[in-house]
Amino acid sequence: MGTDRSVSEDYGGGAVRYLVTGGAGFIGSHLTDALLARGDEVVVLDDLSTGRLENLKEALATGSVEFVEGSILDAELVDSCTAATDVCLHLAAAVGVQLILEQPLDSLLRNVRGSDVVISSVVKHGGKVLVASSSEIYGKSSGALLGEDSDRILGPTSTSRWAYSMAKAFSEVLANAYASECQAETITVRFFNTVGPRQTGAYGMVMPRFVQQALVGAPLTVYGDGSQTRCFTHVRDVTEAVLRLCDEAAATGKTFNIGSPHQISIADLARRVIERTGSDSEIVMVPYDEAYADGFEEIGCRHPDLSLIARIAGWSPRVTIDEMIDDVIAYNSATAAAAVPADLNEVA
Ligand code: NAD
Repeated sequence: MGTDRSVSEDYGGGAVRYLVTGGAGFIGSHLTDALLARGDEVVVLDDLSTGRLENLKEALATGSVEFVEGSILDAELVDSCTAATDVCLHLAAAVGVQLILEQPLDSLLRNVRGSDVVISSVVKHGGKVLVASSSEIYGKSSGALLGEDSDRILGPTSTSRWAYSMAKAFSEVLANAYASECQAETITVRFFNTVGPRQTGAYGMVMPRFVQQALVGAPLTVYGDGSQTRCFTHVRDVTEAVLRLCDEAAATGKTFNIGSPHQISIADLARRVIERTGSDSEIVMVPYDEAYADGFEEIGCRHPDLSLIARIAGWSPRVTIDEMIDDVIAYNSATAAAAVPADLNEVA
């Protein structure tokens, strides 16, 4: 393990030029801020489908970030971005199970074709690419600690929920294939329920949704009996993990879980949000068959094994669940984003 800027050294020890696809989104905008803060240069490529320029307000004000509005499906545009950068953080995607349930074709093609366009272009220009994947990869595997080499247990292709998992898996195996056949420098990261400021509740993310409901005194709708657990991780910890992996030569060619070892049930999360907002909201349990469209299947728990990233990058998360909730409350209180969209699910 080392904490030296191996990438900077590869490129002559100066600032590294990063391409962040999906950089106007939740995680991508925090990564952009962190890269700028340490003196690197950033090009953001984003089609603003779920991302927002507002997320990059402070970054754009520095004058050290170039924003390119466009799609990762535009091979020529992507090529012009990768040609001018050293490392690509590939985050652009149709994110979350809910979006794929609602817009299956567009979402799948964005994730599958888009990853091919981005990864092949980075490889062509001899750069390094970090591919953002998801704990959804593990499918129904529930209960046991999930290591990067754990088996994946998926439902049938006729259940649309699994399409997101398969699209993310495609990006992973594509990166692996480019690494083995073309000696490409790749890193794959699987995020487990990242939360924090700038995350929208509009696509089913449970923490911003609960906070937004609590702030307006609306019932917090918990689907099922609320016993399903998740391991939430603050975006500040996630950002640190990603940058450590980019800087660590031994991370190249590997896949890493990025999450938290601490589980919380969704019912407990709802109670905690009510407590910390001081809201009068009640908790309403909604049976799964009323809450979800056809094609949805809930997962009991997802608990990441974090020993690989601890060993290779010396990383473990530090932000507590209460600090996460407080940050999400502060952000939603300070923005007009507190409106609660009508039909929300609690998937990540
Ligand atoms: P997000 O929706 O905020 O970010 C995705 C960004 O990609 C958005 O800015 C969107 O406008 C952009 N985008 C979508 N399609 C595009 C296209 N065709 N061309 C260019 N830009 C496009 O979501 P996020 O939570 O920041 O997710 C970032 C990455 O992390 C995604 O790859 C997602 O699958 C992965 N991930 C996130 C979580 C989480 O908990 N937030 C969990 C697992 C995996």
